[in-house]
Amino acid sequence: MLEAHLKEIIRDIPDFPQPGIIFKDITPVLKDQALCSQIVDAFVDRLGHMEIDVIAGIESRGFLFGMMLANRLNVPFIPIRKQGKLPFKTISESYKLEYGQATIEVHEDAFPAGTKVLLHDDLLATGGTVVAASKLIQKLGGTIAGYSFVISLDFLNSQGRLTRFSEDIISLVR
Ligand code: AMP
Repeated sequence: MLEAHLKEIIRDIPDFPQPGIIFKDITPVLKDQALCSQIVDAFVDRLGHMEIDVIAGIESRGFLFGMMLANRLNVPFIPIRKQGKLPFKTISESYKLEYGQATIEVHEDAFPAGTKVLLHDDLLATGGTVVAASKLIQKLGGTIAGYSFVISLDFLNSQGRLTRFSEDIISLVR
């Protein structure tokens, strides 16, 4: 089963990038191209009825499978990036971290109003990043068709923070 296989391959790095965090390292997955294809297949299977015009991926690991999935579905890919990285005119959204805050941005012409967006990231932890990204998409007049994650840390109970934007949340490894 894909989930069990991924749990074996994804590497836990204790105390990275800071003490107390167990970092889920997906780089071993990226070295296995057949497994990467299976991941994309699994996302496509689970999209089901979802209507998607574009995929937005969150910097930086959200670009990896976000772009592969966009390519497979033949839809555009939109990068959501950390502050100061996107070269054209941007809109931004700030959110709280445990210590301090972070800001993410998207190009103001990323997609037309009314676009249905699948928001993708490698991992859902507290949900702060993806909530901020959802607000950016709404500011541009887009709607959230759903979410896709390779991994969700369900013990943090953050899926409830996303359901006000969309109930469709795909996660391959819980
Ligand atoms: P959050 O905003 O708390 O949901 O954090 C999600 C973002 O932080 C994603 O972009 C993840 O790539 C990254 N992240 C948070 N926790 C971890 C973790 N334990 N392992 C790997 N990445 C993480």
